Amino acid sequence: MYALQVMPISTLFPDYKDAFTPCRPFPSRESAISWLQMIGRENKFVLVTKHSDAGRIKRRGRVKLACERSGTYRGISQRVGKGKAAKIALKPRTEEEEETGGLKSGTKKCGCPFLINIKENVDSLWYVTVICGRHNHDPAKSLDDHSFAGRLDKGEQVVVVQMTKGNVKPRDILNTLKQRDVKR
Ligand SMILES: [Zn+2]
Repeated sequence: MYALQVMPISTLFPDYKDAFTPCRPFPSRESAISWLQMIGRENKFVLVTKHSDAGRIKRRGRVKLACERSGTYRGISQRVGKGKAAKIALKPRTEEEEETGGLKSGTKKCGCPFLINIKENVDSLWYVTVICGRHNHDPAKSLDDHSFAGRLDKGEQVVVVQMTKGNVKPRDILNTLKQRDVKR
């Protein structure tokens, strides 16, 4: 923590704000999320959905996308007591956590501040706002460990980018990819 105070995050890690700012809003929540996650993959960061509000009659939908390394490792602290008297206490690590350095899922949480807001507007389009474009850690060396990585080849990624930029519905994107597979 002390090191981060001496060296501000801005001098240590680049701001990805521009990369994650699309030139236009998206037609759906899904197309916005998949586009952002794809940009994440290109930069070797995995983005996860943090909070999601489906949007009711008057309320518009909103989603928060964060880095998978946001938050702190759950096993380290625990809630003790109830209500206002509750405290967060350190929890002794299990043997397994001790061996792996507290990494159960292979994801090292380090309180990464990277955060993106996706909000549905009155025009029913989904607008992306980068709240924090900086990570507090280096990009992953490889995303091989992640189930979705490598699912799309380079050609397919280009198709998805072109189609999301052209405001095509996710279902149509899927259909086009399926048709491409048949043609091969
Ligand atoms: Zn991060």
